[in-house]
Amino acid sequence: MTSSLQYVFRTTLAIRGATGLTRAIKSASNSRQVHTASNFPYTTDISSSPFASIQRGKTRSIMPTFSSMEEERIYRKEHLALAFRILHRYGFAEGVAGHCSVRDPVQPDTFWVNPQGKSFARMRQSDLIQCRVEDGEILKGELPVDASATSIHSQMYKAAGRGRGQEGGSEGGVESLVHVHSPYTKAFSSLNRSLSMISQDACAFYEQQALVPFAGGVFDNQEGARIASFIRSHHKVAILQNHGLLSVGRLSIDEAAWWQISFEMCAKAEILASSSLHPKETFVFAEKNNIIDTRNEIGTSEMGWFCLAAYVEEEEWHSKGEHKL
Ligand SMILES: [Zn+2]
Repeated sequence: MTSSLQYVFRTTLAIRGATGLTRAIKSASNSRQVHTASNFPYTTDISSSPFASIQRGKTRSIMPTFSSMEEERIYRKEHLALAFRILHRYGFAEGVAGHCSVRDPVQPDTFWVNPQGKSFARMRQSDLIQCRVEDGEILKGELPVDASATSIHSQMYKAAGRGRGQEGGSEGGVESLVHVHSPYTKAFSSLNRSLSMISQDACAFYEQQALVPFAGGVFDNQEGARIASFIRSHHKVAILQNHGLLSVGRLSIDEAAWWQISFEMCAKAEILASSSLHPKETFVFAEKNNIIDTRNEIGTSEMGWFCLAAYVEEEEWHSKGEHKL
């Protein structure tokens, strides 16, 4: 988190349902100042936190609010630059492959995406290219953008609309997208199935993984629209078969980056566990009620944002402010 940003708490009402589910509903009003310690914003108002059920003592505060759309634009672009650096640090960059984007809050019919061939490790907010949602056309920026980025991202933003809490937005709306070719995910994408429920972390993805058949390289909006047509409002990720993964951020770029990292870890765990099975052995699968309870705790958009927070803190330390340039 940047120390220059003033963190206020979006009053959040945690509603516990009959099944013990926790669902966060945010209100832009009634903002509340939170404390910080070692770059770690927290609140004492535990009842208002979406993390209340998983923490004791004081509670981590949720996403910051902003005094203007322009301030939010800066935050989103800086976190997108940090997301590239994090993905590089964990081995998710490969050649010229990979593109991540965030919707522009000032002009929500546009989004910011990386120039193709620019190092993930050196990404700065000023390197990002602004494109139009309608057709992926480049509006601002000198460098070239991967045609598959403009086509997939534009058609996904167009089909899904704005995310929760935004004007005209919905639960199924999209504010950010992350796509890379990470090694275990790429291997897993050839299996014609979604993750098995063999770990607590995999539960976050239960029944929220779209499978998109491979139809060659993506170079036009028609193919981008075909991919978008497979991704429903409840999906976190789309397994692009024989290719890689597209993860969705309903609230933030941090969330989309985290689902990408978490899916890779789950795919790795499943491949490693598969290789260790003795003949006639099978996995111990999680039970459905436990899977759903776990997904409702660790699989929310807010948790996705929070899970990346430590990586963001580390990357800001490495960057020494370069990502803000
Ligand atoms: Zn790709």
